[in-house]
Amino acid sequence: MDKGKAEQLLGGEFCCKCDGGKVSVEVRRGVPEQKIEEIAAALHADKAVLFVSRHFSESERACFEAALRAAGAQPVTVSVRRRFDNALENAGALFASAKEAEMIVVCESGLYDAAAYFAALRNIPLVYAAFSPEADGILAPTVSVRIRDKTERICADNPRYIVIDEERLKRANRSEVAAAFASIASGIVSLIDYRVRGALTGEFCRESYNLARGAISEALHIGTDENAPLTLLESRLVIAAVENHTRGLFSGGECAVAELLEGSGKRRLSSAERKFAAAFLLLDLYAAYFSSPHENLLYVPDYAQRAEELSSYIGCGKGTILTHMLSAGAFADEEKIALYLPRLLEEIEILRGWFGSITAKYRDLGGTDLSDQYTFGEWARAIDRAADLPGTFSTLTLMRESGALELLRKELQDRN
Ligand SMILES: [Zn+2]
Repeated sequence: MDKGKAEQLLGGEFCCKCDGGKVSVEVRRGVPEQKIEEIAAALHADKAVLFVSRHFSESERACFEAALRAAGAQPVTVSVRRRFDNALENAGALFASAKEAEMIVVCESGLYDAAAYFAALRNIPLVYAAFSPEADGILAPTVSVRIRDKTERICADNPRYIVIDEERLKRANRSEVAAAFASIASGIVSLIDYRVRGALTGEFCRESYNLARGAISEALHIGTDENAPLTLLESRLVIAAVENHTRGLFSGGECAVAELLEGSGKRRLSSAERKFAAAFLLLDLYAAYFSSPHENLLYVPDYAQRAEELSSYIGCGKGTILTHMLSAGAFADEEKIALYLPRLLEEIEILRGWFGSITAKYRDLGGTDLSDQYTFGEWARAIDRAADLPGTFSTLTLMRESGALELLRKELQDRN
């Protein structure tokens, strides 16, 4: 990849015909302390909050605080638990300390969600100094955190900065590199869902699709040397530019399923791992769905019942879920897909063909075995509910409308 391609894309140099969104983001390369000082000075920030976990080194913390002070900003460091949900001290400390902050700085990818949420909530600049190549959801047009078992989601229009320290990235640990790879590779499902959505609504940016596909393909060909983390971060930034340009429409069923699997499984998997595990299953499911006739399924989805179930599971209002279900259902007209079907099936088969190299690369990078993490029931419920998750659209929505998901429900009932 050309150096700086991500910066060009993120800076709005996006040559396409659609009327896509533009994010206010700047990428700076160099030593994080220096870059953070420059940014804080340019913003004339009087108070800056630094989000750290308990694993953050004391010496680095002191360096960052000194950099902020040098720029004239009073640093306030907030120690946050990596798992944000249900940690009351997190919510309390954050709501209180971020009050008069004029910028938020975060370096650990595990804390990115919480930092992005509070920066968007206060509409203040967010600086992410990437200590690892994991940048899941970076620059997403909406940000969310789970607070007391409820997902809080808001739109993010605040300015964002990304600091890339190439030397530091070389020292990223293996699990972070594997997670970054898993997150990017699981985007093969987003590719399909973005196409399907495009066929249904006409909103489709070919250039975005090709860029994301190219970034995923490039990730498959990285080595396992010290340059891998930087390449992965660059690929992630290209995908982030696409996510932003398409106003979040470049997203697929793997994200929704992963969100709904959060509390399940033998062990707690990271968001990237959950998406990765879901991607394999979904692409097979999509292939089966699109290649077999399903016009005359007898099962009709019970919207009210479905909204009720999801509402009690995610803590989101039943009305909001129903509104989303009806609006997504309204454009889920399969006749519109028919024209694109041969090409769509061909692309699904090509992407499924990538599976072998994806799993091999994930293993080489130190990824852990994810098979057998979830029971059939956990999978079935997450897949079924993912069709209705507000703010999302995927082939699962079509499967709900056609009655195919009712078959999954029936299978689940029969097994129980
Ligand atoms: Zn476009």
